Amino acid sequence: MLANNLKKINEKIKLACDNVQRQVTDVTTVAVTKSVGSSQAKELIELGIINLAENRVDKLLEKKEALKEFSTIKWHLIGNLQRRKVKLIINEIDYFHALDSMKLAEEIQKRSQKTLPCFVEVNISGEVSKSGLEPEKVLPFLSELAAMNKIKIIGLMCMAPFDATESELHVIFKQLKDLQQKVYQQKLPYAPCTELSMGMSNDFPIAIEEGATFVRIGSAIFRSA
Ligand SMILES: *Cc1c(COP(=O)(O)O)cnc(C)c1O
Repeated sequence: MLANNLKKINEKIKLACDNVQRQVTDVTTVAVTKSVGSSQAKELIELGIINLAENRVDKLLEKKEALKEFSTIKWHLIGNLQRRKVKLIINEIDYFHALDSMKLAEEIQKRSQKTLPCFVEVNISGEVSKSGLEPEKVLPFLSELAAMNKIKIIGLMCMAPFDATESELHVIFKQLKDLQQKVYQQKLPYAPCTELSMGMSNDFPIAIEEGATFVRIGSAIFRSA
């Protein structure tokens, strides 16, 4: 089942890339394992997946421990991170996708032993319930990170609303891409911002057409039909 689902996902990725003349190698599939246990995550690894993501600190630590024999796995924390949990997790992950406040950045700067690749989460669609910085706050936020040598902003991340139509999704993802280009053009040494973390099970082909370089896919990998 997992192999078959992955195959279908890879076909969709290929199709979306073909539609806009992109290379599949430019898109990294990050498997979101929050809804399954370590044994299913292990199956994925055996099928060749190397990027695993969790949205909760405790769950990530649990899986990492259970799968420690697989030392090549890259661990992504994709959900909100509370400041008090930074010290527990920050030296256990390879990517953090949800940086959205100065207080959190300061805590990461204080606790991290290495320079961590991070995405700034942007609330591109303006939903009140969503986390992430407002788009117009991203550049001022980045200028404040200049002195923080433990944080490298490799890109921007967003979550689209679940009820968005296809054409709305195109607009949302394109807005994140435009903002990423704006940051990229600043040529900030600590914020190369070449990447876009966008697209989930329901919308990753559209995200890829609009430039996603990391897609975060959970349910489409594990669903049983
Ligand atoms: C759960 C989650 C995903 C994956 O969602 P699916 O719809 O299951 O693919 C992606 N990103 C974040 C931040 C998540 O919390």
